[in-house]
Amino acid sequence: MRSTASSQDCTAQALTFIEETRVVSESELQINNITPHHVTKFYREQIANSGYYDQLKYIVEPSIEEFESPGTLDTSGEHDNTVVPGLQHKYAQTGLLLVTERCGSYCRYCFRKRIVGKTSDEIAPDFDQAARYIARHPEMTNVLLSGGDPFVLSTAKLNKIVDHLLPIKHLNSIRFGTKMVAYEPRRFADSALPALFERIHAAGKTPIIVTHFDHVGEISSDAAHQIRFLRAQGVQLLNQSVLLAKINDDPEILAATFAKCHEIGVRPYYLFQARPVKGASHFQVALRRGLEIVRGINQRLSGIEKTFKYIMSHYTGKIEILDLGDDGRVYMRYHQNKAAEKIGKIFSRLHIEGACWLDDLPGK
Ligand code: SF4
Repeated sequence: MRSTASSQDCTAQALTFIEETRVVSESELQINNITPHHVTKFYREQIANSGYYDQLKYIVEPSIEEFESPGTLDTSGEHDNTVVPGLQHKYAQTGLLLVTERCGSYCRYCFRKRIVGKTSDEIAPDFDQAARYIARHPEMTNVLLSGGDPFVLSTAKLNKIVDHLLPIKHLNSIRFGTKMVAYEPRRFADSALPALFERIHAAGKTPIIVTHFDHVGEISSDAAHQIRFLRAQGVQLLNQSVLLAKINDDPEILAATFAKCHEIGVRPYYLFQARPVKGASHFQVALRRGLEIVRGINQRLSGIEKTFKYIMSHYTGKIEILDLGDDGRVYMRYHQNKAAEKIGKIFSRLHIEGACWLDDLPGK
């Protein structure tokens, strides 16, 4: 939100939202968990010149709807799966390490609104403590560095974090979840980065970067250039997107996004159903429409480009959303679950018009 004027109350200010300018107090922003407004110059210019500004503005520009959208702040049970401060262990093979609460720009739909752009005690304060837990869990084969965005940290800091992880023999990959390839691709031109990836390789592990492109208009020529550079360093690249109302709820756009990812060597991996997050649930697309979009995407892509799964990251596990049957039931299967025996099992729930989340569907 750009502050355009000050009111008499020094804690209130006139802020610019997509719909209007409104005077808002500091406490109103805090009570409603409104994420700070910050957009990199690079991304501002990219979306302005992309030809898609009217869709892409919703990614980073604040909306009045953020004060009204219902939901909760921890939709996937992150708190319940935190095993030591900053480390989550929900699925046997994967550790999730929160390394910063900062990002290059702040996405208005972020499911970690409770953390990003704030001071959070959910960020790992002690990587040694996290590493000791990981070392005691040989079933964990990979660690995902997330936050926030790990690539807002300096390469020196990233080296210090991986110092704790590289000696752990049972880890076979170190994954970085980042939207910086969209927000500030030149971050990846840092001359110190190849040595970081080389250290990961030398320790017998694969460095993986999970990019976050939601829309083809975000894939700048600088991003494509840096991705080529990362691939040359042996970094594997996957992409995750979120299905977002007004932004990419269009099979044409998402098919173009995934085809572009494929073209530059990034494998489309997850298309996430947006979560019922307080202040961001207005981005949710109904399951019926989501499934229509997924069918439309698949009709437009070649076999080798269709590498994504339509996923609901639910409290109970990662659920692949498969179809809405003629019997009026939504068919799904657990892609990930704490209980191994549930993984892969197809189950169904009666469809309710407008449903966006598993909890919107009746139990039987
Ligand atoms: S970059 Fe990721 S963590 Fe940061 S605001 Fe966007 S979605 Fe959230």
